[in-house]
Amino acid sequence: MPIKTSGLHHVTAIGGDPQRNADFYLRTLGLRLVKTTVNFDDPGTYHLYYGDGSGKPGSLMTFFPWKGAMPGRLGNGQATTTSLSVPETSIGWWKQHLAASGVETSQVRDADNNADSEDTLTFCDPDGLQLALVAHPQGDPRDPWDTKLVPAEHAVRGLHSVTLSVSKEDATAGMLTDGLGLGFSHQDSNRLRFAAGAGGAGALVDVLVTPDAPNGLVSAGSVHHVAWRAPDEPTQAAWRDELLDKGVGVTSILDRQYFRSIYFREPGGTLLEIATDEPGFAIDEPLLELGRALKLPPWLEPDRDQIQAMLPKLDLPGENNPELS
Ligand code: ZN
Repeated sequence: MPIKTSGLHHVTAIGGDPQRNADFYLRTLGLRLVKTTVNFDDPGTYHLYYGDGSGKPGSLMTFFPWKGAMPGRLGNGQATTTSLSVPETSIGWWKQHLAASGVETSQVRDADNNADSEDTLTFCDPDGLQLALVAHPQGDPRDPWDTKLVPAEHAVRGLHSVTLSVSKEDATAGMLTDGLGLGFSHQDSNRLRFAAGAGGAGALVDVLVTPDAPNGLVSAGSVHHVAWRAPDEPTQAAWRDELLDKGVGVTSILDRQYFRSIYFREPGGTLLEIATDEPGFAIDEPLLELGRALKLPPWLEPDRDQIQAMLPKLDLPGENNPELS
């Protein structure tokens, strides 16, 4: 079965201090904490999931935040910018809101350097992760999370795109098109855009060709991997067979509790994942209470006390922080 992903599922990055990370994504960017759990491969570290009201695929940014983590280095073989989608009329609001939060931004206007005529605001999170807020001219029909700090009319709609930095483009482009079923959209100087499915916000990836850039180093402030959507488990299993047939080194199917995952590296060096849309974040707590309590998968539940003792205390949404819900 040829692989045909419909778009981005999530982006996972490494953070520093967990509280600072949560404050930035919840208060400054106005996302919802849709799950508080641990890194299943390293349960002494949190895994925080931010997204829209229900944590729909395509809305998700997730972090492994480690206090004292070494800073990473941006470079080739990485997703160097993660872009979030906002309404066209909201760029000005965001510029002010971010300035008021002490975040420096720079604005790329209209068609200055992209053929999609997108207005873009770029900035970094507290650990130096490169982010952008992008207004796609065709808009974005997705429902946002609404908070007092970031009202729905301006709120982030979900992921817009990622930028993969590579030293040369051919093999990465081949993986995106022949491998994942994306289509080539257009090229602006050293930036090539690809679109999944019907395209638009949440289904885009830019490949930035920077032959002279150093290789990236994945640590705090950099993206660990980029996940693409598969509708369900049988489709994911068929796509895994397809990758194996193409000679791609892909992991076995891993149970991530809220989705199933396979991982492989694109030839330019970035770690990619295919994650299922199912079962989603309401599988182990009510939708209204997402993110408020530490959730563990069944196989880690027996070690809850030990795990909780290792984790730093976090001030989460809930009764103490009504402005976040
Ligand atoms: Zn992932």
